[in-house]
Amino acid sequence: MIHDVVIVGSGPAGWTAAIYTARAGLKPILLAGTMDAGGALMTTTEVENFPGWPEGIMGPELMQKFEEQAVRFGTDMRYEDAVELKLDGDIKEIRTDQDTYRTRAVILAVGSEYKKLGLEGEELFTGKGVSYCATCDGFFFKDREIAVIGGGDSAVTEALFLTRFGSTVHVIHRRDELRASQIMADRLLANDKVTMHWNSVVEKINGEGKLESLTLRDTQTGETRDLPVSGMFVAIGHEPRTKILDGALELDDAGYIVVSEPSTATSIPGVFACGDVVDSYYQQAITAAGSGAKAALDVEAYLG
Ligand code: NDP
Repeated sequence: MIHDVVIVGSGPAGWTAAIYTARAGLKPILLAGTMDAGGALMTTTEVENFPGWPEGIMGPELMQKFEEQAVRFGTDMRYEDAVELKLDGDIKEIRTDQDTYRTRAVILAVGSEYKKLGLEGEELFTGKGVSYCATCDGFFFKDREIAVIGGGDSAVTEALFLTRFGSTVHVIHRRDELRASQIMADRLLANDKVTMHWNSVVEKINGEGKLESLTLRDTQTGETRDLPVSGMFVAIGHEPRTKILDGALELDDAGYIVVSEPSTATSIPGVFACGDVVDSYYQQAITAAGSGAKAALDVEAYLG
């Protein structure tokens, strides 16, 4: 069987592309993934800036609403991971862990993944004190000293959430100014449970079997000091999930898929990309959703 369109990814971009292509009668297949279905919002707490939700909405609930809307119009959602893509030619082939799909058009909405610090022992200590998701792991650090690394909106959101659990939340930022939006920065700096460590980077992760302390280096003086913590949450941004493409599409220097803006067309006809995998700048649920709508309209035009 040859499908009209297969959408890979189930964040705001993927689901919006599904809503639009389903309403256009294209019977989209949406490959939602297994472990990471729902995308980045599944590990977010309250989303306050998605229009239409004046009281805010929890990230996972918002994604549930996207899904309901897409399925209502006939999206065929599968909890499968795409493992191999053959994108050349008129009929593309997507192999998953369970099946192979043949399709005339593909929408890639595969998003991004957590950036790592790249420190020795970071992987070893993951799950033993080192985490990338406060909503997933915050609870394990009740009344403990917790560190959050980063100065953007992610780090601030994670740190504020963690003040519910930790005795102190140490925010470690490599500069002397937060990158986060003003409203979030103000909230963080006004919170009694937060201690800021400006101009500081983590040099070493220490512990016997589990995280016990971090060695911090002052970026101005070069001095090092030990900070005893039980948990370290790394929130330094994301990188695009493009490994699966195996060089098939043109990427920019930072690894994001290049599209011919304002369209979502990639370097291969019939292959469209949207959401965080094309956007190193805005990375908002609403902009991802908007680009998902564009990808769907581009697919409609392509299929004629
Ligand atoms: P950002 O790229 O905005 O911020 C990353 C932060 O991590 C920066 O402060 C950066 O420092 C720091 N950093 C990067 N690499 C390193 C490193 N190797 N070592 C130490 N520090 C490092 O990423 P975010 O994930 O925070 O945000 C991405 C986008 O998502 C943004 O547009 C943001 O506004 C949005 N967002 C919005 C939210 C909301 O509105 N509720 C919640 C979360 C994200 P430096 O500042 O020096 O570059």
